[in-house]
Amino acid sequence: MAGLANIAWILDLDGVIWLADQPIPGAARAIERLDRLGEQLLFVTNFSALTKEQAEDKLKACGIDATGRVLTSAMAAASLVEPSERVLVCAGSGVIQAVEERGAIAFDPSDGVGAHRAIDAVIVGFHQDFDFARLAASARALHQGARLISTNNDPTYPTPEGLLPGNGSLTSALATAGGVQPTIAGKPYRPIADLALGRLGTERGAHGNLVVGDVPSTDGLLAVELRFEFGLVLSGVTAADDVAVCDPRPDIVGDDLEALVDQVFQ
Ligand SMILES: [Mg+2]
Repeated sequence: MAGLANIAWILDLDGVIWLADQPIPGAARAIERLDRLGEQLLFVTNFSALTKEQAEDKLKACGIDATGRVLTSAMAAASLVEPSERVLVCAGSGVIQAVEERGAIAFDPSDGVGAHRAIDAVIVGFHQDFDFARLAASARALHQGARLISTNNDPTYPTPEGLLPGNGSLTSALATAGGVQPTIAGKPYRPIADLALGRLGTERGAHGNLVVGDVPSTDGLLAVELRFEFGLVLSGVTAADDVAVCDPRPDIVGDDLEALVDQVFQ
């Protein structure tokens, strides 16, 4: 009987489960409650630098068993290349792993301009050792006809010390230098939306399903793309004062995940 009422939950990580490296209080209890109720959960993040094992380990350190339940924008980007394609990975280890699991061949742009021939695609994702040499090698591949795939276009990345440049900033540099338009794989776009539906075994517009996140422009618009409800938490980048001007408007608002789950089941 309970199974009939169960819904699918797409849960963002940063700002929902943790803030940088700090677990958000109550998040693990909320996940335990959802698991006990038999809800379908998928953790979906635009952060592409971690491998799925690293993301699962980080969740485990927060008290959450997420084995096999993590979907990253690195996996979404890798879904846009074909097995055996040659891919220049201007990104972190999460993208390298996802490209190799896809059966494509990953190359490192730090090998320099001219080191790579017949590159089919360049994937750009957040990484902190991005530099001019990697930009130049990536741009060369784009000039020679490779397509540009970006894990996500978040302009900035929140840290306790303030905003850092996000992968949208790196993507703009490659798109400008290469003279091409990127295809964006992560939230709120279709590649990651389709992968999430496949993993959850549900469909667009299925009644009651939820996307929970802290950012209307990624999590909220993913909910719009999927025709799910949007649950906004105030434990990340969106403050209570901003709720009135959120676009899209959230269907539910909670101070944090635990408060939001309380509201859903009250
Ligand atoms: Mg977030």
